Amino acid sequence: MGIVVQKYGGSSLADAASIKRVARRITEAKKAGNDVVVAVSAMGDSTDELLELAEGVSPLPPARELDMLLTAGERISMALVAMAISDLGFTARSFTGSQAGVITDSVHGKAKIIDVTPGRIRDAIADGHIVIVAGFQGVSQDTKEITTLGRGGTDTTAVALAAALGADVCEIYTDVDGVFTADPRIVRSARKLDRVSYEEMLELAACGAKILHLRCVEYARRYTIPIHVRSSFSHKEGTWVMDPAEGDTMEQAIIAGIAHDRSEAKITVVGVPDKVGYAARIFEALAAAQINLDMIVQNISAAATSLTDISFTLPRTDGATAMKALDALKDEIGLASLMYDDKIGKISLIGAGMRSHPGISAKFFSAIAAAGVNIEMISTSEIRISVVVDEAQVDAAVAAAHTAFDLDADEGEAVVYGGSGR
Ligand code: ASP
Ligand code: MG
Repeated sequence: MGIVVQKYGGSSLADAASIKRVARRITEAKKAGNDVVVAVSAMGDSTDELLELAEGVSPLPPARELDMLLTAGERISMALVAMAISDLGFTARSFTGSQAGVITDSVHGKAKIIDVTPGRIRDAIADGHIVIVAGFQGVSQDTKEITTLGRGGTDTTAVALAAALGADVCEIYTDVDGVFTADPRIVRSARKLDRVSYEEMLELAACGAKILHLRCVEYARRYTIPIHVRSSFSHKEGTWVMDPAEGDTMEQAIIAGIAHDRSEAKITVVGVPDKVGYAARIFEALAAAQINLDMIVQNISAAATSLTDISFTLPRTDGATAMKALDALKDEIGLASLMYDDKIGKISLIGAGMRSHPGISAKFFSAIAAAGVNIEMISTSEIRISVVVDEAQVDAAVAAAHTAFDLDADEGEAVVYGGSGR
């Protein structure tokens, strides 16, 4: 008899009927002889609704109070799920992140878990209860304040609990059947992956695939927790995120999948003197403003002017802050102008097999060209090729690349069971 950790996302907990359905699913795992610990997200789109409510009250709410507000969403679902379980004749105990021993650093809005001390969870299990934990939250070790882990953070709560409790597996229940070769919301012919390595899943998550929180995958890899991503609406086998066992000779696919991201913006700094130290000045100013950059491209300078352009991408939410920081620098170091574009999208082709197979970039760029899409920027890592294109052309480019790499499923369409896609 082992411990199973399960996570249910907002779209699986949209209303009373779904909560009862999830409660039945949880009790099935208990009846099968497991100790069950469950991390829950807020119901439906309620985190977005709470954010809108906050915006209506204050344009820039204090981070501490925003975390207090948002953690209430998960608190509502944990109590309702526990009630539904008790209606089925089992006992459940719900705990906030803080009560469950999820200890974080003190950064509101994107806290990192630094320790999990699950004493109360262990006691509740020993007393025969099913344990329900509010996801996406913890308590700061230093400030003792309530923190949140960043959007989608319940995945990370679940994996952290699985690691702390020594669970055999962490099951992530969502509104699709697993991890797909592309977002099934835009590519209906996307194929479900049976297996994906931690390394590939990390790149997929970092490049905008919303199926798993990036931190959750980092955590799972560090503690070697196998993740089973599956639907709460069906009983189909989902996708296993884990490394192949030693000696596993199963041929690995060259490409794992295609991720896309519409959350970034592009800034171009025009007329940068092609001399020592200018790039450093620009990026120091951005670092001082706490901006996380993604792609960076510098062109060679025009011989006549000795001036060059530098473009980079960053989260749209940081766009205004970055432009302000660069504007302050413009006259000081003599930059010609700044351009801001937030109508861009990033498409990333990911697969460990590209290390050993030539011609992948050529095929990727040709497919995008054949779809009539212009490439604005390119960047690569060992197992990834990313391009920036016009936001309006993202869907077409993803579909074209998906077909070019033979990723389309042989039969049937990918099912999206729930969620508003928000
Ligand atoms: N409710 C939070 C969100 O919507 C956390 C989560 O769903 O994992 O981001
Ligand atoms: Mg989520």
